[in-house]
Amino acid sequence: MTALRGVVLDEAAGVLRIGAGVTLSQLSEHPEVQRHFPSLSQSAGAVASPPIRNMGTIGGNVNLDTRCRYVNQTHFWREALGGGCLKSEGNVCHVVPGGRNCVAAMSSDNVPVLISLDATIVQAGPEGVRALPIEEYYKADGLAHTNAKPGEVTTELRVPLAKGPRRAQYVKWSVRKSIDFPLVSVALRFDLAEDEATIAAVKVVVGVLGSKPRTLGKLDEVVGKKLADPAVPRMVADAAYAQCKPLENVPYEAAYRRDMIRVYTRRAIESLAAQA
Ligand SMILES: Cc1cc2nc3c(=O)[nH]c(=O)nc-3n(C[C@H](O)[C@H](O)[C@H](O)COP(=O)(O)OP(=O)(O)OC[C@H]3O[C@@H](n4cnc5c(N)ncnc54)[C@H](O)[C@@H]3O)c2cc1C
Ligand code: SF4
Repeated sequence: MTALRGVVLDEAAGVLRIGAGVTLSQLSEHPEVQRHFPSLSQSAGAVASPPIRNMGTIGGNVNLDTRCRYVNQTHFWREALGGGCLKSEGNVCHVVPGGRNCVAAMSSDNVPVLISLDATIVQAGPEGVRALPIEEYYKADGLAHTNAKPGEVTTELRVPLAKGPRRAQYVKWSVRKSIDFPLVSVALRFDLAEDEATIAAVKVVVGVLGSKPRTLGKLDEVVGKKLADPAVPRMVADAAYAQCKPLENVPYEAAYRRDMIRVYTRRAIESLAAQA
């Protein structure tokens, strides 16, 4: 097991091991992270502000509670609304009236990226140590949005190294460039063929929708195309727009945030294509 505060390149196992106690600053600035996983360096560096990144850990960030514009308020504010909601003192959801599930948003910058990179999360608890794909760690329930077992803590994240050329990027839209949680976020990963131009595989994960990030489906039609093909940004951005329907769970209108998903996805791919 990796030391809680260590980042270790395990080339024999083909993974980068990241201890849960590694701070977000250390993660963002670590040379192996920057070299192998630039999108993870970007997402860790996009969290909040330098003082928070210097203290906050990746283990805390992947276990960050879900957020909602209705519940992240004072008790007084909620009382004025009529008595809270499913996640506080009430029994209704103000985002989805009549809904039985809390749809508060997973707002970690790093989780969509770790899912896009097929990372594994390691949990240690009274029943022992287990590792599971981080994508399976989250569930669509804003009240209990992880599959952590009672008494478990996260000890490590393992990110598999790319087997060939890859382009990856994280983009985040927030009101201010600092301090703010994302209101829309997209993690993109394109695995390329040996020619470093043709798309061999693609994974795109969108955050801040509900309690679990959404991995886009139906992207097969871009496989085999060149990353620099001008049709690719439009195809992926249109798929993101079609498959992602933000809710009014965080500030800013859902329709505007949905437009921003399309805009940020397209711009990110254009930027990756320019790098290629
Ligand atoms: C003003 C402000 C702005 C922020 N903006 C952003 C942002 O833009 N993007 C973003 O992603 N985050 C943002 N955050 C969240 C912040 O970055 C996270 O709280 C931080 O990354 C984790 O900090 P921590 O290590 O102190 O964990 P804590 O805050 O102490 O813990 C967070 C949760 O995780 C649990 N936990 C901590 N460590 C572990 C572990 N090893 N195993 C299991 N559970 C654990 C805790 O019990 C708690 O429930 C913001 C926070 C603040 C205060
Ligand atoms: S999504 Fe609904 S139940 Fe959950 S915190 Fe927001 S208002 Fe409350």
